[in-house]
Amino acid sequence: MQEKENKLKVGAYWASSCGGCDVALLGLHERILDLLEGADIAFWPAATDFKYEDLKSYKRNELDITFFNGGIRTSENEEIAKLLREKTDLLVAYGSCAHQGGIPGLANMSDKSTVFDTVYRDNPSTYNPEGTVPLERSEFNGGELELPAFNERVKNLEGVVKVDYTVPGCPPPPELTQNFLDLILNDDLPPRGSVVAGEKTVCDECNREWNKKSIDEFHRPQEIEIDLEKCLLDQGIICMGPVTRSGCDASCPEMNLPCKGCFGPPSKVDDQGAEMLNSLASILQIGEEGKALESEENVLANLPDPIGTFYSFSLANSIFGGKVEDGGNNERK
Ligand code: SF4
Repeated sequence: MQEKENKLKVGAYWASSCGGCDVALLGLHERILDLLEGADIAFWPAATDFKYEDLKSYKRNELDITFFNGGIRTSENEEIAKLLREKTDLLVAYGSCAHQGGIPGLANMSDKSTVFDTVYRDNPSTYNPEGTVPLERSEFNGGELELPAFNERVKNLEGVVKVDYTVPGCPPPPELTQNFLDLILNDDLPPRGSVVAGEKTVCDECNREWNKKSIDEFHRPQEIEIDLEKCLLDQGIICMGPVTRSGCDASCPEMNLPCKGCFGPPSKVDDQGAEMLNSLASILQIGEEGKALESEENVLANLPDPIGTFYSFSLANSIFGGKVEDGGNNERK
């Protein structure tokens, strides 16, 4: 066991996300004890009673490594991201939301007031006759309450500060986290800026038989009896495996579920959703030219939610980015 003064100082923070990534760290179970042998937890508000003042009191780079999960949706998320960047030597984007904006990034299709309407005013399970929505400042019992500003758009962590490493996934699988911890504890980390997962695609790890047939209809998984041996895409189920970074052992296709793309694109792909459309076009265009185009239109008309399908986790970090600009203009080009 290392001497206390040689221990790493480790932080973890939960920004705009569901909290699953914090639970994933605990999902290491007894293996987290290996980490604690070589590290002290110096900041982890979800697990221990740390305050922001504790973080502010640290010197520059006093924390050796911080696992930051969640996207940047509020002024508080942004402020803490900048503070952690200042106080941490190695800042890790941990999980899909910090990496690519994640599912919260899908809200970039709607401006702030539409989001507030949906959540607080027009929600059938919410009783709110006065149409109250969260305010940055409000009076209560003679005092003033403050809330962080709700930004117009979700950004990923790299959209706000420089990131040293990314551990992808929704949430990152325990084996991937464990491998990363081993690299840290053995002082064997790859160059800064690396995504610590595979370099190939999920299809390269998948055992299903792929025939590259043409597709004439898309199905949702619950609509058909799925062949357990054959590629899901060949069966007309949108599977993001061809455009998603490897490292999960194709765990969703192995369980009869299509890959949703939570590891983000491989290094050579800039825009995961656009690349998937390209991949599909190559399958849809099989056949005579006229028939192929007609078939392509029919097939795409079968897709009820193209943005949610092709950009489940990566909209905030895509070239398209969504419909909302930082200033609130709902017509982002
Ligand atoms: Fe496997 Fe999906 Fe790739 Fe098909 S598209 S080979 S099911 S990961």
